[in-house]
Amino acid sequence: MSTPIKRIGVLTSGGDAPGMNAAVRAVVRTAAFYELDCIAIYRGYQGLIDDHTKIMNPRSVNNIINKGGTVLKSARCLEFRTLEGRKKAFGVIQKHNIDALVVIGGDGSFTGAMIFQKEFGIPVIGIPGTIDNDIFGTTHTIGYDTALNTVIDAIDKIRDTAISHNRLFFVEVMGRDAGHIALNTGVGAGAEEILIPEENMGLDRLLESLNRSEKSGKSSSIVVVAEGDKTGKNVFEIAEYVEKNMPHYEVRVSVLGHMQRGGSPSCFDRVLASRMGVEAVESLRAGKSNVMVGLKEDQMILTPLSKAIKGKSEINENLIRVSDILSL
Ligand code: ADP
Repeated sequence: MSTPIKRIGVLTSGGDAPGMNAAVRAVVRTAAFYELDCIAIYRGYQGLIDDHTKIMNPRSVNNIINKGGTVLKSARCLEFRTLEGRKKAFGVIQKHNIDALVVIGGDGSFTGAMIFQKEFGIPVIGIPGTIDNDIFGTTHTIGYDTALNTVIDAIDKIRDTAISHNRLFFVEVMGRDAGHIALNTGVGAGAEEILIPEENMGLDRLLESLNRSEKSGKSSSIVVVAEGDKTGKNVFEIAEYVEKNMPHYEVRVSVLGHMQRGGSPSCFDRVLASRMGVEAVESLRAGKSNVMVGLKEDQMILTPLSKAIKGKSEINENLIRVSDILSL
């Protein structure tokens, strides 16, 4: 039988996402609830290597549930990708008598956690925090809902100016490999077209569709483009192509960029992060390791980290159909 866990380390790693603080708070307070010690590790794996740590108590996480970003800071750490780096990190784990690690991050962070667990035997649990929602084993990642609301807000504002000037706007949103943000905000904001990495619409079909919309009486349009769409052109090149072919339109591009990662987390993300933090600590106490906490049909579930990393978080095909019907 494994020795009972007395001290948990928690860190945030990789791309930051709104709601990570709510997850940190939940991990710290659940640890205290079960009379376990909790140590915060700053700047992800870099802080683990550099011994940038702090003992937490329930009061250390006061007033952070509503804050965007991560108070523990995040980092991309090249050294942790080497065995030497991970040996140093394990030295810090031993120095502080840390028995288990909760890693809040995306698939890169989980890959690091899995390797670390295999090499040194320390139990690890992942909590999915990324705005892209591109992780298998959960219908929602922490930060995704907030990002959707931020993007919708921005597109609504862009629409106001588009309508006033008969403009055609191309709005680029985040999502290199996954079109969840583009597809959902496109439907939610009533976009005319949505370009996502999972589906190659092709520029000719885009033109056809915009022409059809114009003929039906639309004088302004919004096209939502995911960063990683498959047309083979970036958003500026797409806009240029369309402007050449539809010269009567004033075409504009808006790249929303990093503002999509910021802001106070939505209620959904705060609740999700709180549930996931509790589940993570309770799972560690129950002897679980090498798994990620996820949400499915409103229940907390566990998925092996290997599956969470490799599996694909599928796009909702029905939503593509809904968008096609409603953009008439
Ligand atoms: P995310 O977790 O958001 O996907 P990254 O892909 O940048 O972000 O991963 C975060 C960190 O996880 C990296 O900076 C690195 O320290 C660690 N990591 C990622 N992949 C590996 C790997 N193959 N081996 C060891 N550590 C890794």
